Amino acid sequence: MTGRSERYLEELAHEFPRLRLRPKADDRLSQLIDRLLRLVTFGGQRAYLDHYLTTLGSTIYLPRSWEALDDASRYIILRHEAVHLRQFRRFGWVGMTLLYLLPLLPLGLAYGRARLEWEAYAETLRATAEVRGLGAAHDPALHARIVRQFTSGAYGYMWPFPGAVRRWIAAELARLEATP
Ligand SMILES: [Zn+2]
Repeated sequence: MTGRSERYLEELAHEFPRLRLRPKADDRLSQLIDRLLRLVTFGGQRAYLDHYLTTLGSTIYLPRSWEALDDASRYIILRHEAVHLRQFRRFGWVGMTLLYLLPLLPLGLAYGRARLEWEAYAETLRATAEVRGLGAAHDPALHARIVRQFTSGAYGYMWPFPGAVRRWIAAELARLEATP
């Protein structure tokens, strides 16, 4: 039996013929990024290899915890990463690097990165509502987790304004409720 996440990966492979999946644990670039992130966030991001998926170009790098996730969780996460695949297609490597690292600062206030990630976390909310129901998209624990991604060292304190992130979440939920 193939699950929803495997079927979605097949769809993605059609949309992105060069799509590749790669475990982070035995990937040198991922190990280097992991060390850099620990350093620049003073340990604020320690879970890069264990718990975070990362999309670079048309490659999705998988964390150690990937195998242990259930099908629905994998599907929801892949919907988020698909947004990043499309962003790479839209902006290219140079554009993505500039947007991700520059405006305004690489750490502390990274509005470009916050907008790129918000586009993907909005998709996380939509996919959660589709798979687990609108109630699950309203789960305060999910909102707290999303807010943390923006305000903590996870992404280098990219937008440390919890109120702003909560307003983005509320606006997306209102849109979801308005869609039949
Ligand atoms: Zn993301």
